[in-house]
Amino acid sequence: MTTSASPPPPASQSGRYPPGAAAFPHQGLLGIAGLAPHEILFLLDEAEQWVELNRQPQKRDDRLAGLTIINAFFENSTRTLLSFEIAGKRLGADVVNMHAATSSVKKGETLIDTAMTLNAMRADAIVIRHASSGAVRLIAGKVDCPVLNAGDGQHEHPTQALLDALTIRHALRERGDSDSLVGLTVTICGDILHSRVARSNILSLTALGANVRVCAPPALMPEGIEAMRVTPFHDFNAALDGADVVMMLRLQQERMDGQFIPSPREFRHLYGLTLDRLARAKPGVLVMHPGPMNRGVEIDSNVADLVGTSLITRQVEMGVAIRMACLDVLTRRARKLPGWVGPEISGEAWARETGA
Ligand code: ASP
Repeated sequence: MTTSASPPPPASQSGRYPPGAAAFPHQGLLGIAGLAPHEILFLLDEAEQWVELNRQPQKRDDRLAGLTIINAFFENSTRTLLSFEIAGKRLGADVVNMHAATSSVKKGETLIDTAMTLNAMRADAIVIRHASSGAVRLIAGKVDCPVLNAGDGQHEHPTQALLDALTIRHALRERGDSDSLVGLTVTICGDILHSRVARSNILSLTALGANVRVCAPPALMPEGIEAMRVTPFHDFNAALDGADVVMMLRLQQERMDGQFIPSPREFRHLYGLTLDRLARAKPGVLVMHPGPMNRGVEIDSNVADLVGTSLITRQVEMGVAIRMACLDVLTRRARKLPGWVGPEISGEAWARETGA
């Protein structure tokens, strides 16, 4: 896969989504659940300009100058925190990071009190990561500014799913295919049960028309997952057969209460992505991993580093662009952008009329 620039679609493709705020009428980004397909596409299209900017030596756009963004991370993170910080700074905002380990949370402050404190500081956007599913929604209900979910427990990680869709679309476009995900077979393998990345990706990929297969040992497969319009597999070889994209997941040890797998070695034997196994997928298969990777467990090094096949570093690149798009779009109302304040057409009415 080359990294040469490919022509991005225009940021606002007429007819692809309704104009102004109706293209994304949400106050925050709490999850992929509840987003219409055209709203997901809108964020992906908005991110294209930032992919371009980020590839220039001068990566600065000051549209968020004067705004304050707080990254409140109550759980460990390397790439997501850095990515949001870089995204906010490239847009000219003042970005402040709050780490739970050094905050008053350690002194017993409740989540709601922390939220009220952040709100009183008049943040213009708050990005939250928390170990409890639902904590981000709770905070969003207590503050006046847009809230972005940077991962809540095993619930959702919406910007990861968006950056993954953007990564796939770029890879398809670069090899001359259509950038649509419709009909693409995507296999997600690993700890499906505890993975917020799996959940958000299932919601986004199915909304965009991909056929999603999920693969895990029985203990790591959520019951009733078929209801999410995916096909479950326990046999990884079968799940790989003819796959266009393979997304590997880390074992979420921090969310495991008890023994879910016999041993990492055993897990690798049945569910690790090796070069031999990868040969079962379609020629030209794309390999993804949200990171952090456990090389030699869910993915072998010679697969993770396979040039032209592995998109893992590209995912990190797309992450910054997606987060810039989300911060820009979600602050448009507060910045009083034309079309984002005042009367607007409803997204539902537009979707009904255009059949989107
Ligand atoms: N970084 C991703 C997350 O925060 C994936 C992982 O941790 O395994 O969920």
